[in-house]
Amino acid sequence: MELKTYEKLVSDENRARKYVLGITLKNHQRFCPRCLCRKLYVLAGGRRRCSSCRYTFSEFAGRWINRSNLSCADWLRVVKLFELELSTRKIAKQAGLSYKTAYRAVTILRLAIMSQAQDARELLGLEVEMDESYFGGRRKGKRGRGAAGKVPVFGILERDGRAFVQVVPDVTANTLVGMAVKKVRRGSIVYTDKYSAYDSLMFCGYRHLSVDHSKRFSRGKVYINGMEGFWSWAKERIIKHHGVSPERFPLYLKELEFRYNNREEDIFPLLVSYISMLVPNVG
Ligand SMILES: [Zn+2]
Repeated sequence: MELKTYEKLVSDENRARKYVLGITLKNHQRFCPRCLCRKLYVLAGGRRRCSSCRYTFSEFAGRWINRSNLSCADWLRVVKLFELELSTRKIAKQAGLSYKTAYRAVTILRLAIMSQAQDARELLGLEVEMDESYFGGRRKGKRGRGAAGKVPVFGILERDGRAFVQVVPDVTANTLVGMAVKKVRRGSIVYTDKYSAYDSLMFCGYRHLSVDHSKRFSRGKVYINGMEGFWSWAKERIIKHHGVSPERFPLYLKELEFRYNNREEDIFPLLVSYISMLVPNVG
């Protein structure tokens, strides 16, 4: 979104609210957040009552945006500053919020991004690179696979396309190939390094080509430079957050996946649409 359009939006709460509501109620369809019924009674103050389950709710009920009591204009400010990759401290300062409030808002944003990522059912395919890497840990641990105190992350990257990254409990063949099968279309060409965990890919319906790093030469298209580029891009960004705890790390990882996959998009309206989604029911 252009800065001028954005400035106009946040200068007026009514305008900001209209913008967010427009994205929330695509095609002007309202529904009950509990039972998804569309037959609603209008009550005072913009509230609605469901004709089927009788639930009474306000405009943003059950949605991520409602998990914080920020005004719509403040939400849009946070989204804009988040888009620009500012630290939480700077977001708080720029938006005139307390650190706690800003922290809560960016966490909600990251949760909404993560929830969208998990809903994505589309498979990656054609030509993909796969690799694992280790994040975190202050000192350099043991070299190679299984470095102590570090978080193993598995990554799949379509050549010139989308990325998928996920924290994994270990880097065994079971875990890595198991995840590959869930995320990559059969018949695809898969490039990896010589790590033996990937050997069974050829038995799972893939054309598996591996590159030997020790030789330093890649044969034609057999390389995993894309994935290696992604790792250094991701690590550079994680470092900016100065020590992300292992518990919160998956959230940051999914944020990076989102940023990478939408690198050609205007992510402002996209992020607004994410926070206006219903919070999935977990139990
Ligand atoms: Zn209902």
